[in-house]
Amino acid sequence: MNPSAVAALLCPLCAGSFAAASTPVVAAGSRTRAPGPAAAGNASTGSGAVDASRSAVPEGRNSALVCESGHSFDIARQGYINLLTGHGTRFIPDTAEMVAARDEFLAAGHYLPLARQLADTVLAGLRPDASGDDHLVVDAGTGTGYYLRQLHLAADNVGGNTADNARASISSIGLDISKFALRRAARANPETVNLVWDVWQPLPIAAGTADAVVVVFAPRNPAEFARILHRDGKLVVVTPLPGHLAEIAGAVGMLGIQDDKQNALQASLAGFFSSGATNDLAYTVDLSRSDVARAALMGPAGHHLDSAQVHERVAALRERTVATARFRISTFRPVRIPVRTPAS
Ligand SMILES: [Zn+2]
Repeated sequence: MNPSAVAALLCPLCAGSFAAASTPVVAAGSRTRAPGPAAAGNASTGSGAVDASRSAVPEGRNSALVCESGHSFDIARQGYINLLTGHGTRFIPDTAEMVAARDEFLAAGHYLPLARQLADTVLAGLRPDASGDDHLVVDAGTGTGYYLRQLHLAADNVGGNTADNARASISSIGLDISKFALRRAARANPETVNLVWDVWQPLPIAAGTADAVVVVFAPRNPAEFARILHRDGKLVVVTPLPGHLAEIAGAVGMLGIQDDKQNALQASLAGFFSSGATNDLAYTVDLSRSDVARAALMGPAGHHLDSAQVHERVAALRERTVATARFRISTFRPVRIPVRTPAS
């Protein structure tokens, strides 16, 4: 995990930092104990003080994040971290089946043009920092990490192409409520800090630290996005446009895209963000029957659709279906930084 992304994190229990220059991250195999011994026993994660010697994490990998007060959060074997200590969320996490469908659909490259355009939009204007610090990108609803992976690849290319060999160096935090998604995200983006988190709760990220917040087909928390963004930062939101995959939507029971979705987006951000540029994409995708089934099961309708029924309907389709993908990439600028009340 990138240290500068870890440095932007806040402990959800005490709002303390994970970034003390000493050993906030305890190496597996070492017998070092976490700093802040008095508070360590109060950690509500149940892991208590880290006894790294008992960790199942392979040698050479970190086993826990420990805040300056000693609250400890295990790093899962797959590389993500669950910072959620309470319960009760309005979210229904995506299931393993939905996540697998999404991973397979995205791996086929159908949304690669979107991912590349998104990366260009996020990277535009992110100049190499004279201090050498990374630009922090927060991917809210990172899913399987596909779009963030493409962003990192694009950032690396930006570096290679500039005359002065300057790099648009990126560090990243990925948030998702589904641990099934994060297992894949952590594999795709090992340098990213991937956190199980509920985006509708206060984010475990320090104010003013993010250069960009990216939201691809995911819920939005405008007040918190505005708080974590740097005053010159930007919010980049991807939404499907009416008619998106309309050629297959009806056949397999996908949810339609409401015409007023864009107005709802603007309204939800009012008071926190001002609208910037928008970029609409429309391109055709050539989908196999399996692709069509995945497209149906990977989205919000996947919570309601019966997989067997979807596959039955798909079997009645032609071998391949050409459909039109329609997206809007919208950029917003924060209009003010709300003051965060201390965590109680
Ligand atoms: Zn703490």
